[in-house]
Amino acid sequence: MAEERLPVVVNEALCTACGICIKVCPKNVLELVEDLHVWTGAMCKVARSEDCIRCKFCENSCPHFAIEVVDIGLELTFKDSKGNLITKSK
Ligand code: SF4
Ligand code: SF4
Repeated sequence: MAEERLPVVVNEALCTACGICIKVCPKNVLELVEDLHVWTGAMCKVARSEDCIRCKFCENSCPHFAIEVVDIGLELTFKDSKGNLITKSK
């Protein structure tokens, strides 16, 4: 199975769990989740990646530059001259 490529990545070393990105997200993609491994006791997580519309409201609102909408690239499938299906990632 192909590895899921998240549209949004949180830098856990920079995130202060302030929740701003969660409030501004129009699609309710992000959630504050308890995480006892970090000093804040909670961490912003991508909970519903499939709903993300890549608007970048989260990235542009984060005061700590801790969240980034990543380039998920393009996957193209086409037929070669022999009719074989070829998939290329860009
Ligand atoms: S706005 Fe930034 S610092 Fe605040 S919870 Fe979101 S990613 Fe973390
Ligand atoms: S890019 Fe937009 S839809 Fe996606 S997580 Fe950020 S604010 Fe939500």
